[in-house]
Amino acid sequence: MTEQEKTIRTTCPYCGVGCGVLATRHPDGTVTVAGDPKHPSNFGRLCSKGSALGETLSLDDRLLYPEIDGERANWNDALDLVARNFQDAIREHGPDSVAFYVSGQILTEDYYVANKLMKGFIGSANIDTNSRLCMASSVAGHRRAFGSDTVPGTYEDLELADLVVLVGSNLAWCHPVLFQRLEAAKAANPALRVVVVDPRKTATCAIADLHLQLKPDTDVALFNGLLAFLAEASVVNDSYVNHFTQGLEKAVEAAGPCEIGQIAEKTGLSRQDIALFYKMFARTEKTVTVYSQGVNQSVVGTDKVNSIVNTHLATGRIGKPGMGPFSVTGQPNAMGGREVGGLANMLAGHMALENAEHRGIVQDFWQSPVVADRSGLKAVELFKAVREGRIKALWIMATSPVDSLPDADGVAEALEACPFVVVSEVTRAADTVPYANVLLPAAAWGEKDGTVTNSERRISRQRAFLELPGEVRPDWWHLSEVARRMGFAGAFSYEGAAAIFREHAELSGYRNEGSRDFDIGAYRDVTDAAFDALEPFQWPQPAGALPTDTRFFAGGGFYTESGKGQFVPVVFKAPRQTERRYPFSLNTGRIRDQWHTMTRTGKTPRLTAHFAEPFAELNPIDAEKLGIDPADLVTVKSPYGAVVVRALLTDRVAPGEVFVPMHWTDQLASKARIDAVMAPETDPHSGQPGSKFTPVAVAKAKMA
Ligand code: SF4
Repeated sequence: MTEQEKTIRTTCPYCGVGCGVLATRHPDGTVTVAGDPKHPSNFGRLCSKGSALGETLSLDDRLLYPEIDGERANWNDALDLVARNFQDAIREHGPDSVAFYVSGQILTEDYYVANKLMKGFIGSANIDTNSRLCMASSVAGHRRAFGSDTVPGTYEDLELADLVVLVGSNLAWCHPVLFQRLEAAKAANPALRVVVVDPRKTATCAIADLHLQLKPDTDVALFNGLLAFLAEASVVNDSYVNHFTQGLEKAVEAAGPCEIGQIAEKTGLSRQDIALFYKMFARTEKTVTVYSQGVNQSVVGTDKVNSIVNTHLATGRIGKPGMGPFSVTGQPNAMGGREVGGLANMLAGHMALENAEHRGIVQDFWQSPVVADRSGLKAVELFKAVREGRIKALWIMATSPVDSLPDADGVAEALEACPFVVVSEVTRAADTVPYANVLLPAAAWGEKDGTVTNSERRISRQRAFLELPGEVRPDWWHLSEVARRMGFAGAFSYEGAAAIFREHAELSGYRNEGSRDFDIGAYRDVTDAAFDALEPFQWPQPAGALPTDTRFFAGGGFYTESGKGQFVPVVFKAPRQTERRYPFSLNTGRIRDQWHTMTRTGKTPRLTAHFAEPFAELNPIDAEKLGIDPADLVTVKSPYGAVVVRALLTDRVAPGEVFVPMHWTDQLASKARIDAVMAPETDPHSGQPGSKFTPVAVAKAKMA
């Protein structure tokens, strides 16, 4: 390494695995990356996306200066205009007439400031996030079962297990380094079995001992049947259940008897496969059940989560090495947003919006004039309110709802009609940008500085190794400057990310002094230099004695009123049916080498080479019936919208199902935005959209 070269330890900005990255800046301005061998999440590994990070840092398409109505503006004018429009709306229509829509891409410090401004100073809980599309059902399920949104286990548990059940999780493509760790564990431990539960034959099935290719949205039938099987076979851990839980009888009653024939009928699985899975689960003490978007992105997502958690509570397999239910998040900082209350139904420090004592703690700590006392609008309902004219000023940060929310054309219409829209963005390549009255240039990966939390509750530093280009500023600065102009200068006079992190750490310890709940109070007095050098760590890290094991709930200690884990009675509901005009069920998701709207991963040819254009996976049996040949253009259409994409004929999808990736935007390809096709239906508990199931029609495209 030459003298001018400098290597910085930072964290990958893509998925929720949260891999440590060594970024080296060379004298010619190029940046190369490598996996950080000391980071406990990846131990030096990177996936295709992470290893290409250095190729995605060009300033093409970057937003470098503030803009008002499409014209370059100075920061003062832009920030004054934002503050004035928000103040006017609040004065004329009340605090619930404004909203923030943020993102699992922003850092915890940005999230903290956004949440503080909206809930504590504006006095509304209208702040929601694209993490609503990612893991809200797991949050709701955790809160019902554990009394708090707490992930009990760690990545190491997948390596210590003898059975790993992956439900609705294409780990190989969506959490590739975690998949690499599991693959290596399987090679080292011949006893380790992997079961994949997924309607689609994904790349993850390559290491599966059993693939349960069930019908969409029938997971509750499978896991209710498992709970009944465990009860009937006397595999229940009576000691754990009696000491630490409540409600097993009601949950077993709701599950009904273990009739394998009926479960086979509901799920479409064979009796043999169901019986084999139940026996494997029953006899394997060290079992981890990993679940992801196939569980969360459903109108019954929260019930799916609880049906899984019930089986782990019943066996006492939770929070112990190699055991536990484990939700893995999609985004790099979905978990950090949860910690600081960046969702419309949460308060900071994992405290509850509906709890008057918690509201008092937070208001007192913030010394704020007010604190929101009821849930705000969740993502889909927020944009419905925009469309109906109830939101007069909206601020969107680091996400493109026109590309990512269901009924995306309806979202575009809503933005068109909204009186005032602010967009804080890195790039012009997002389809939401043209709808902004004010554009604020935000710092990108490599320029910003702060922390993120991954799926195993590990907080890691994202560090800057590039200068801020043009007049770009970090998101927390945008927010603090607007807060200052709204008259809240004292509470938002941060000098940098370290000061925000200290405040967040201090607040985290206020709930139940001395409890092991979410608490990073050990860092409340961290100096700027120590923050700079911060090593990755998992919460809890309370002030004083640190816990020796950061797993949760092996010995009870739940955060419910009774202190006991709650079995949630879950009744299987038959999934929505396709209909004559829309006979296929649409499934959506990621592909291996792209991230979200491809504004970064789309910049490097070695990633776009994997799939060069949008496509629809269709079973050859269906294709033959419809007269569709390989590589034909096909239309996938719902009552909300249509896309025209290339047919990819494969038995990875079952007959009657079609899979389309989520990445392509209008700017990348004409008529390929699959979110415009998705129905805006949501889970009643979590508000998460059911992005894995929309009834659609598929036909050969008519050429003009
Ligand atoms: Fe980044 Fe996820 Fe790949 Fe790790 S697994 S390098 S966090 S995209």
